[in-house]
Amino acid sequence: MDILKTTQLTKIYGSGDTAVHALENVNLTVEKGEFAAVVGTSGSGKSTLLHMIGGLDVPTSGRVFVDGQELGAMTDEQLTIFRRRNIGFVFQMYNLIPMLNVWENIILPVKLDGKTPDRDYLQKIVEILGLDQKLSCLPNALSGGQQQRVAIARALAAKPALLLADEPTGNLDSRTSQDVLGLLKITGEEFFQTIIMITHNEEIAQLADRILRIEDGHLTSGSSPRPDLTPVSPDSSNRR
Ligand code: ADP
Ligand code: MG
Repeated sequence: MDILKTTQLTKIYGSGDTAVHALENVNLTVEKGEFAAVVGTSGSGKSTLLHMIGGLDVPTSGRVFVDGQELGAMTDEQLTIFRRRNIGFVFQMYNLIPMLNVWENIILPVKLDGKTPDRDYLQKIVEILGLDQKLSCLPNALSGGQQQRVAIARALAAKPALLLADEPTGNLDSRTSQDVLGLLKITGEEFFQTIIMITHNEEIAQLADRILRIEDGHLTSGSSPRPDLTPVSPDSSNRR
């Protein structure tokens, strides 16, 4: 089943002579449970794509469907609620609240939604991410890698259908990046979550099921699910 579908997704910043065509006619489908990496040079449109998919910004034209629902058809308020319940975000900057401890940071989005955190589920996530001994620590007592793991746990807390990550390991050394990414992959598989992750690190991209390449606002490869994730597998060596 498609968890994400974009049709002719286009984003133009500005207008006239200074217009920047950040995305042009991007048609993308991602299946539930897939882990897709988005790669491309700086300025190619990766963050713009993630912002449109996550409903953080509005496309100039084209449509975005998450779990069958069209983001552009929602009011701002509906979109805010939909996002909180269905889409988790992890950014390069961890954006943790410094006065709240690890556990409070993790459950904050669920609480903001007026819901009760699922303790069993969160306990599992916290264990997988190796944070169980750190729950009462304040963020500034943690390393960068630990803080990013808290950000991942927070993004997963509401059991989002879609986890979007923009250079989540951009501030981490390569060893810690591999660890964090490995954990992200494990939580994704454990909870059948769909992950779309931007990276400029090819090694990290190789951990994904599929690599989406963006050049100059165009998706140049990886727009459909990998053949071997669909029932018939004509060429198992095809990693795209
Ligand atoms: P990437 O994440 O791949 O580095 P971005 O999606 O951030 O690329 O940017 C794509 C293009 O759109 C770039 O040329 C960038 O300068 C431009 N751009 C991004 N955000 C804005 C904005 N808010 N206003 C104007 N131009 C923007
Ligand atoms: Mg970017």
